[in-house]
Amino acid sequence: MRVKVDQPKCVASGQCVLAAPAVFDQDDDGIVRILVDRPEAAHHEDVKESVAVCPAAAIWVEEEE
Ligand code: SF4
Repeated sequence: MRVKVDQPKCVASGQCVLAAPAVFDQDDDGIVRILVDRPEAAHHEDVKESVAVCPAAAIWVEEEE
């Protein structure tokens, strides 16, 4: 899994950080930052939850071989 974000779309809601704190953080303006762009399998469900709850649809994942 490769995690992608579109920072210009981010509305700084912080939902992704609540769902997957090991993978996402926010900068001083609240804009999403990726901590780990290829998270371990243990975090994949949390990332999918972040994708689902992001109000700006600013997060997506690419499945890798
Ligand atoms: S959930 Fe979406 S809008 Fe909210 S901080 Fe994360 S990427 Fe930005």
